[in-house]
Amino acid sequence: MPESPSFIIHWFRRDLRVSDNSSLLAASHKGEKVVPLYVASDWKKAHAWTGPGRQQFLCECLESLAGNLAKLGGRLIIRSGDPVEAIVRLLDEGSVSEVHYNRDPDPHGRKDELRLAEICEARGVACVGHDDVALHTFDQTTKDDGTAYRVYTPYSKRWLKLEKRKPASTPKQLATPDQIASDPLPTLENWQLNLPSHLDLLSGSEAAARSRLKDAIAKRLPSYAQNRDHPSVPATSRLSQDLRWGTISIRKAYAEAHKAHEEARDPDVRASYHTFIKELAWRDFYLHLLEAYPEVLQHEFNADYRGLPWAEPDEKFEAWKEGHTGFPIVDAGMRELRTTGFMHNRVRMIVAMFLTKDLHLDWRLGEQHFAQHLLDGEIASNNGGWQWSAGTGADAAPYFRIQNPWTQSKRFDAKGEYIKKWVPELDAVPAKALHEAPDLVSGHGKSYPQPIVNHAQERDKTLSIFKKHLDTV
Ligand code: FAD
Repeated sequence: MPESPSFIIHWFRRDLRVSDNSSLLAASHKGEKVVPLYVASDWKKAHAWTGPGRQQFLCECLESLAGNLAKLGGRLIIRSGDPVEAIVRLLDEGSVSEVHYNRDPDPHGRKDELRLAEICEARGVACVGHDDVALHTFDQTTKDDGTAYRVYTPYSKRWLKLEKRKPASTPKQLATPDQIASDPLPTLENWQLNLPSHLDLLSGSEAAARSRLKDAIAKRLPSYAQNRDHPSVPATSRLSQDLRWGTISIRKAYAEAHKAHEEARDPDVRASYHTFIKELAWRDFYLHLLEAYPEVLQHEFNADYRGLPWAEPDEKFEAWKEGHTGFPIVDAGMRELRTTGFMHNRVRMIVAMFLTKDLHLDWRLGEQHFAQHLLDGEIASNNGGWQWSAGTGADAAPYFRIQNPWTQSKRFDAKGEYIKKWVPELDAVPAKALHEAPDLVSGHGKSYPQPIVNHAQERDKTLSIFKKHLDTV
């Protein structure tokens, strides 16, 4: 009978890296063997809420994580199903003194943590949650009276003033007991998914994330303040999927941007790094809101807008999803999303406002579609971004400030470079016509549809729907 091993568990969740990982590092410092565990969602079931691109990115991250752990002497243990049940089964496979994990502010993650804590307590196992996912914890960033902020600007002022934790080191070595068996690394087949041939995805790994950060600091972010709203200019970091899956830590991203800010001589470049840092605060802000107001996942953040009469999804919703609305900037964004699992932030706002204010469709439909396709799909930022655009969220544009997709594309894609990249049938259309003359667009682009709605009319309709609703609350 082989001797039952003793070990500590580190439970990987949205922290798929060995460097600057608060929980993994703490587990490795105990001088015991460590079981680095990842519990994949149940692979006997088809995957409903997210699509193949995102799962492919996850599979790549896990493969690279397994390699990085092996370099330290450890072994990634893969299991699938309910994570708490998987951990409980692991507790039965040896003598376990401690379970470590990085806390997840989303309500589903927190529910798992509470269940796990109860089970560990009953078994006399220490259950240790670490603060890792945000740069600042909820408690550090509340108002003076201890309540949560509801508005970004005062939140960010507080956030910016706080001293930032420095990135921590990588464990020097790890040993995982031989007796603990692992399932093979997951592939898309585990969830009955296929990778469509049109997908063109970024690769997922710690090394890829580090290289994207380096590239961002050196080449993309120096003009961030001037160019970040122009989707054809590579001026944003492209780090969102890495921050989502934790292939890079938020502390590392902040530390590199802060260093670049301190070293920059040109005031514009310096301002750019600062603007970028303030965007990292938006990420923390939405995590903060979700922790304080988990009901936003079901309801409008601003209670006045609950019960708005959204339209029933019809063929126009399909046209939006496929990028066939006849609004070039909207179609370019939706096709970028479908092909790459990414969409530029400015365009996310345009397509989201189009869905909610031009098609009068429920922001939850858009939120679900984004979650299916985005590699960076993250419930706090996705919900925050959708509610902001619908006018129902924190810091949202008031409902009567409705972006006009034609003027937005003229402002932010004046030469039509982004549009033509993603909507090649408009290649021959003069840039001016792409933003001003829907009939011209249709005339030039042979297979390109007429605009499916008249923006001016739909704008008036939205104003009247919102106003009527507000009169009743
Ligand atoms: P950069 O401009 O380089 O910003 C750096 C980082 O800051 C980002 O990687 C991200 O972590 C954070 N950040 C930047 N802008 C925002 C923002 N407005 N809100 C929250 N965090 C921000 N972001 C996600 O990570 N996941 C989502 O699911 C998501 N859904 C969105 C849905 C809508 C409708 C909208 C309008 C925005 C959404 N965003 C989401 C925010 C934003 O669009 C992306 O974070 C950004 O486009 C990612 O590109 P980047 O890494 O090059 O960003």
